[in-house]
Amino acid sequence: MSLIVAKFGGSSVADIERVKTIAQRIKRMQDEGNNMVIVVSAMGDTTDELIELARATGGELSGREMDMLLATGEQQSAALLAMTLNNAGCDAISLTGWQAGIVSDSTYRKAKISDIDTNRIQTELDKGKIVIIAGFQGITPGGDITTLGRGGSDTSAVAIAVGIKADRCQIYSDVDGVFTADPRMVSDARKLQFISYEEMLEMAILGAMIMQPRAVECAMLNNMDVEVLNSFNDNPGTIITEERNMEQDRVVSGVAHDLNCAKIAIFDVPDQPGIARTLFKALAENGINVDMVIQSAMRNNHNDIAFTIGRDELTKALPVVEELVKKIGASDYSYGDNVAKVSIIGAGMQSNPGVAADMFEALADEEINIDMISTSEIRVSCIINEDQTQKAVIALHKKFDLDRS
Ligand code: ASP
Ligand code: MG
Repeated sequence: MSLIVAKFGGSSVADIERVKTIAQRIKRMQDEGNNMVIVVSAMGDTTDELIELARATGGELSGREMDMLLATGEQQSAALLAMTLNNAGCDAISLTGWQAGIVSDSTYRKAKISDIDTNRIQTELDKGKIVIIAGFQGITPGGDITTLGRGGSDTSAVAIAVGIKADRCQIYSDVDGVFTADPRMVSDARKLQFISYEEMLEMAILGAMIMQPRAVECAMLNNMDVEVLNSFNDNPGTIITEERNMEQDRVVSGVAHDLNCAKIAIFDVPDQPGIARTLFKALAENGINVDMVIQSAMRNNHNDIAFTIGRDELTKALPVVEELVKKIGASDYSYGDNVAKVSIIGAGMQSNPGVAADMFEALADEEINIDMISTSEIRVSCIINEDQTQKAVIALHKKFDLDRS
């Protein structure tokens, strides 16, 4: 008998038909002798719709009331799933985040879980119940409702699995697992059987929408294996686990791409201490996340600084940059939103020199120009022209033999 925590995402509970489908799956797992704790997201686009409603009130989307509102989405799906299971003859109970003992700090809309009191969950399990928990929410020690950031029910699920020492943690969505590249872009992309926490973290940060990066981090810190599965079929998924369990000879595990990219370049920035601080502090204070940064070599006591941000933040960033150019005495700036980031990810890179060179070669062979480069120990990313994204991803997938298992 295993204790399983299974999380079902918004698409898996998008309507009552789907809720009924996953209820059958949950019932089957219980019939096989497992104890089940289920974490749910809000139905379909509910969270987006709630944000739109809040926006329509005209005010600031303020923290406390926003979380009061957003947390209702997950409560709906938790209650509806519990009802559906009860109707199917299973004994199920739904719990809000706070009823389930999930305590967080008070950073509204991006709260971090600080503690889980598992007593209530355990009591309900002991009564033989299937416990359904509303994901994405917690409560502050002072008693206010919080939410855990977009995609936060992944983090709820992993944290609960760690808290109750589950035997298995499963994340169900509408994809079969983690692929060597986006299957919509590369026809021979393969599903990976395993991926390491570190690789998954890089992929999640790069925008593979499979899991919230914080959930991967939580799994990694607590050494909790996570299975990523499709709720619409019975295919085996991908297991996110420690690196030692992995295929030994794999150098690159996947190719990722991100179209939410824009580039800003500032010219003739005086080469003085403190300039980068002024620049990036102002961007951070305006809530703009900077990704890659490149500073050219100094000439005549000036250099150019280029950086990338999310394309959706460009309109917010440009007035800030305009101001900064004057403030720091730069000559001008330019920007482009027709860029994309392609990356290769692989834990095997650490012990295989020449991987970056192979990547640049594959891009050069396709006559793709590289605009910017950044690396981590297990990732190389290049900024290229957006129009060449698919060509680049296919070329890299082939170069690193990802089409062959
Ligand atoms: N419903 C929330 C969101 O859409 C949380 C989640 O889906 O994990 O971001
Ligand atoms: Mg969601």
